[in-house]
Amino acid sequence: MTKERLKQLLKPIADGLFGEQRTRGNEPPHYTVRPVGMIVEDLCRIPDEDWALYAFAREPLNGKFNDEQRRELTRQAMACGREYAEKVAAQYGMRDPEKLAARLGLKVDFPDMPQNAERVLFAEFRVPDKIHVYMDGVRKGRALLGEPGVPHALTGQLDIVKLLIGHELFHYVEEQYKKEIWTRTYKIELWAPKFLHNRSTVGILGEIAAMAFTQELNRLPYSPYVMDAFLVYGYSPEAASGLYEEMMERAGRTPRLPQGGGPAALPDAAQQA
Ligand SMILES: [Zn+2]
Repeated sequence: MTKERLKQLLKPIADGLFGEQRTRGNEPPHYTVRPVGMIVEDLCRIPDEDWALYAFAREPLNGKFNDEQRRELTRQAMACGREYAEKVAAQYGMRDPEKLAARLGLKVDFPDMPQNAERVLFAEFRVPDKIHVYMDGVRKGRALLGEPGVPHALTGQLDIVKLLIGHELFHYVEEQYKKEIWTRTYKIELWAPKFLHNRSTVGILGEIAAMAFTQELNRLPYSPYVMDAFLVYGYSPEAASGLYEEMMERAGRTPRLPQGGGPAALPDAAQQA
């Protein structure tokens, strides 16, 4: 792969991990690169509901909501994801996402990369019953698991493949229950002439629920949104550092800078001087 091509592929990666999400425009210039251990250590401490604004920033209809609504909808989407995780786990007597996918008759394969690579993608669900897990990104992520601070932050429980399959499995479940599942029945009224009803689902709710679903199946003590930054780090530490800054800020936290960094690492007092 050429450098130019890789650059093209990395651009949309900042949009989010799992496909269906959209961008925030054509940002980012330069970010201070952090060690991956620092990134996951900080991100794993963000409480689940504080991912609301990061998630909604990837929603095309984001402008229709205020922060209070974004938080409330995130809570409901997470509850929906957890509920269906428990429901499916109880129904089949298992919670291993890989085994569940097999049991539900899904065809899971593990190609290296998407066939028409328009973006770096880690996994995707294709209706009606296919899940692709792209191993190039998984391998790059696994290679980071031994970095200082990473095992401690991510805990021994993380299995990247199972985490990705769990997320995609939710999209399958959502299809099966589309008439009744909250992420599909919740709709907002868009502008339309009075006699027409123009109601739309809110796609990001399915993503938030998918994260909660896989978190529940995998019994992870942190939000799978951490993987957005972690897996991107395998391709670009700088892009991942940019995501880290955004995630921290949207969660109301201050991103750390690596010690001994450049001018950007000056303490506050020195910057004010
Ligand atoms: Zn998804």
